[in-house]
Amino acid sequence: MTDSALPVAPDWFRQQDMGGGLTLIVEPHVDVLMRANIWHLRGRDHDLLIDGGLGVAPLRPALPGLFAGRDTVALATHTHADHIGAIHEFEQRWVHPVEAASLATPRPGSLISDDIPAEARQRFLAAGYPPLGPALVTAVPHAGYDLRSYALQGAAPTRLIEAGETVDLGDRRFRVLHVPGHSPGSIALFEEATGTLFAGDVIYDGPLLYRGPGMDIADYISSFALLKSLPVTVVHAGHDDSFGKARLDAIIDAYLARWRAEGLVEG
Ligand SMILES: [Zn+2]
Repeated sequence: MTDSALPVAPDWFRQQDMGGGLTLIVEPHVDVLMRANIWHLRGRDHDLLIDGGLGVAPLRPALPGLFAGRDTVALATHTHADHIGAIHEFEQRWVHPVEAASLATPRPGSLISDDIPAEARQRFLAAGYPPLGPALVTAVPHAGYDLRSYALQGAAPTRLIEAGETVDLGDRRFRVLHVPGHSPGSIALFEEATGTLFAGDVIYDGPLLYRGPGMDIADYISSFALLKSLPVTVVHAGHDDSFGKARLDAIIDAYLARWRAEGLVEG
């Protein structure tokens, strides 16, 4: 397709102040399937960026109010294309060891829907996503942007983080949870003091993906049990709106029932 068919959206990112030093950053011109949440949290000793979007436009220069003059750690909850786009822009890059290699050397990726294998597109439809348009974006970040120039930029992690470790911002402390299912090295962050959970893609309030490379139902089930056991007050997930404990439990119960009906789980 010709890129001139797409409008130019110079403000590629949209940010929303969630209160308490938390900012939600989204890419509104990315197809809903790949429109991931980027979370930015101010900390006393350093700030934390949780995930990095699709990498269509550079993040850091776009939002100087968040990043200029600040020490920011970029943490990837997992290494799917829609979560690591901007991680390479930061000096500190944290990821679970199981996905270290795919952060350092991501698969190239594409914004052209025809480049996505038919079998994968069928899985997205079956999960409940609408059919993809011709491209994964409905706008371009600047005039003359060539969709075919898109490529995920890799960068080796600077710290490997595993279950039980603490992400400490000085005034806020998060326990690292290993929550595979959506991907083998998926992590979530839980703050005991407030009940805040940053979940990545192991759960969100939209169509969960559970068939595909790296996805595993048995892993999902044990990760769900861990999530259900936490005294959660709010879940900030990798996609869609944030939600509370009742919704967390309801989403989990609905998927367990669905998997039982599909014969993917015993009992
Ligand atoms: Zn994902």
